[in-house]
This record gives sequence, structure tokens and C-alpha cells, in this order.
Amino acid sequence: MSAIILDGKSLAESVRAEVKVGVDAFRAKHGRVPGLDVVLVGEDPASQVYTRNKEKASNEVGMRGRLHRLPADSSEASVLALVAQLNADPLVDGILVQLPLPKQVNEQKILDLIVPEKDVDGFHPINVGLLASGRPGLVPCTPVGCMRLLKLAGVDLKGARAVVVGRSNIVGKPIAQLLLAEHATVTIAHSRTRDLPAVCREADVLVAAVGKAEMVRGDWIKSGAVVVDVGINRVDSGKGDGKTRLVGDVALEEAKERARAITPVPGGVGPMTIACLLQNTLTAATRRATQG
Ligand code: NDP
Repeated sequence: MSAIILDGKSLAESVRAEVKVGVDAFRAKHGRVPGLDVVLVGEDPASQVYTRNKEKASNEVGMRGRLHRLPADSSEASVLALVAQLNADPLVDGILVQLPLPKQVNEQKILDLIVPEKDVDGFHPINVGLLASGRPGLVPCTPVGCMRLLKLAGVDLKGARAVVVGRSNIVGKPIAQLLLAEHATVTIAHSRTRDLPAVCREADVLVAAVGKAEMVRGDWIKSGAVVVDVGINRVDSGKGDGKTRLVGDVALEEAKERARAITPVPGGVGPMTIACLLQNTLTAATRRATQG
């Protein structure tokens, strides 16, 4: 069997096109465009690329994307003050603080200050609670992207055995919640799970969100399973040229021989994350405009 490759890049393009249509309709109805404000503290090179991409992507769909840069030695009080200012600004619909923050700034304090209705990352405890209790809130972007990819694969999640490897608050746990809401029977595995390969072999749907290059081997995968690989790991190119390449948490070539469908890295979950951030911003703007 050679698995269907779930093309996150083209799915992300169609999500962005959907959002653009939504933004045009929002502008026609409310006389303004949704606003996404991204906060970057410091000069971490990866964070600089991510935040620039978010700002660019939001402007491309017709939103007002703004990037706020603060120096690496910013005090916690100055970051809190910026978040408070964005909370109070009626033209700001989505606030995203890029992680990680410098060590003098308490991450939890900053994220907790973002008002839940503008929390487009879905990390605020109120949004976490809404997701856990099956009520509408703002849901973390990468997990939403994973669910869209599973939909693309045409998976019937009702009663399916789903295994999520990884239990982080931003990826593993929310994905598990979303799978549960779709009536899958969900197991969350982590670094203390006994006999992880055997647990994974039970899965009709296997989600890997670990951060360990190609940890999930082909023979961990049940024949015909659908595999979503969230991991992004930079490894040596193997060509002796000193260059690197990106791989996921799943050994793709091996997994392709067993899975029915699989997301590649790069080009799977990654592109969906920003597309779902734009979707969340439009959702936040629409709720604020209609619910006051
Ligand atoms: P975290 O480091 O926060 O969590 C990793 C999880 O994997 C933990 O729950 C940990 O278990 C578990 N784990 C670690 N080692 C093992 C092991 N040997 N066996 C089983 N479980 C293990 O990572 P994130 O959730 O933030 O990210 C996971 C991956 O997804 C990373 O590669 C990250 O780069 C990528 N990512 C990709 C995104 C995208 O847009 N595509 C967005 C966000 C993340 P324990 O809790 O026991 O320590």
C-alpha cells in the first residue's frame, strides 16, 4: 500500500480563500476589516519568521495585520501594558503573543491577560475550559488544522480508535478533545506510556505531536490507519553538505507503506496552522461585531 499524501499546502490555500471571502463580507457588513495583532518580544530567528508570516498572511486575506516588536530585555510590566492596550482597542479582534518569551517575562501571566474573546491562539484558561466542555470558544490553531486534514482524508471518526502521542496544552490535549467531540475513542500517550509501539498499533487514527525526529516507525502503524504528523524537526540533510532538512515525528517513507493516508512534513500540518489562525481571527471578529 502507498498512502495518500494529505496536501496541507493546498488545503491551507483553500482555507485562506474561504477566509478572504469572509473578510470581504465582514467589511461590507461592519465597515471595517478584522484586525490581528501579533506581539514579538526579542529577536529569536524562528519567532521572527513566524510572526512576519502571520502578519503577511493576515494582510493577504484583507485583514489589518500588525506586528508589535518589543526588545529582548523588555520588562514583564511593559509586555502586560501592551496586551492591556490591545485588549482595550476596539479595532483589534485577535491578539497573539509569540512564544517563547524571554525568561524575565512570565508566559502564563501574559497569556492569561489576553481577553478570551481576542485569544486567537486558544490558550486562555476560559477557552481551554470551553473546549473541554464542548462549548464554542476559540480553539488552538494547529489542532483545528489537524481536524481539517482528517476531514480531507474522509475519516469516519465515530467510534474510531484514535491515539494522540504528546500531551502538551497547545497541541496534544486540544487535539484529543476535538477527536473526542467527534466521538472517537481517544488514548493520549506520552513519555511515560508503556509499550508505545503497541499502543500506536491500535490506532485507526494516529496523531504524533512529540518533537522527536522520525520516532514513530512504520511497524508502529496499523495497516490502513490515517496518520497526522504534527512534529517539525530539523535534522542533518544526510548529504554531507552541512545543510539541514525538516522531518516529522513519523518515519514517512516507512509509514507510507502501512497507512491509508498521511500528512507529510513539510507541507502537511504546518501550512494549516496559519490558515486556521486567520480563520480564528475572522471568527473572533464576527462574534465581537455581532455579540458586542
Ligand atoms: P512539547 O515538547 O510541549 O510536548 C511534547 C510531548 O511529547 C510531551 O507530552 C511529551 O511527554 C511527549 N514525548 C516526548 N518524548 C516522548 C517519547 N519518547 N515518547 C512518547 N511521548 C513523548 O511539544 P509540542 O506539543 O509543543 O510540539 C510537538 C511537536 O509539534 C514539535 O515538533 C513542534 O515543533 C511541533 N509543532 C508543530 C506545529 C505546526 O504548526 N505544525 C505547531 C506546534 C508544534 P511528557 O508530557 O510526558 O513529557
